[in-house]
Amino acid sequence: MRGSWRLGRVAGIDAYVHWTFGLLLAWAGWTAWQGAGTGAAVLLGVAFLVAVFGSVLLHELGHALVARRYGVSTRHILLTPIGGIASLEGMPRAPKAEFAVALAGPAVNLAIAAALALVSRVTAFEAFGLVDGLLYANLSLALFNLIPAFPMDGGRALRAFLAGRVGRRAATATAVRLGRGIAIAMALVGLFVNPMLLLIAAFVWFAGGAEARALDGFGDDDDGSFGRERYAAPVSAWQRPGVYDRGPSSGGMRVVFVRRGW
Ligand SMILES: [Zn+2]
Repeated sequence: MRGSWRLGRVAGIDAYVHWTFGLLLAWAGWTAWQGAGTGAAVLLGVAFLVAVFGSVLLHELGHALVARRYGVSTRHILLTPIGGIASLEGMPRAPKAEFAVALAGPAVNLAIAAALALVSRVTAFEAFGLVDGLLYANLSLALFNLIPAFPMDGGRALRAFLAGRVGRRAATATAVRLGRGIAIAMALVGLFVNPMLLLIAAFVWFAGGAEARALDGFGDDDDGSFGRERYAAPVSAWQRPGVYDRGPSSGGMRVVFVRRGW
């Protein structure tokens, strides 16, 4: 994996992080420093980012482990500043299996959010607001990735759902059309709200088209001979609300949740 560091091996799958992630960490630290100007705030900002990407890693592991149940192994998982990518060696042919693999990622984030809600409720443990922030991030990750814009998770689930009814090719064509419509909307929103959405719109547009082309010339019974299936988890949604930019202050533990537009 060029330009990446190996983080380690989880459940037999190598996890890597791209070097550009270091830039994101530095930027998160810098933003926190500008906001609060304390080392504690910097630490908190960086810890939050690492925790969010830990959640992204678990999201990808969710895809990988459910895929393994259906006999598909995962080459590796890569974390990048805009999200995680699990490179699956193939795709289970049965629509039911594909449906389960697609939903496994968002399901992991929902489970983490539920666990965090329980923790904050039962123990009142908030870790300077990290628990609530992480809860929100995981909810956002789940909901954002469930947008039915093929090849995002929601779009893959939709394709699988349709494939059981109209066959894989027709289902893919419909999912790609819908995905491209959503990509245009995302790009327009991205122009005014969050430039990261432009990147994701481009990903949806081109990756969706590539997958549809890969199916051309194959019947519904073929799996389209995809070399690899990529499960990408964009993280754009959670970036909007802002960063915790104030650590513990002298008047007690206080965290200010400010909108900084990242
Ligand atoms: Zn996913």
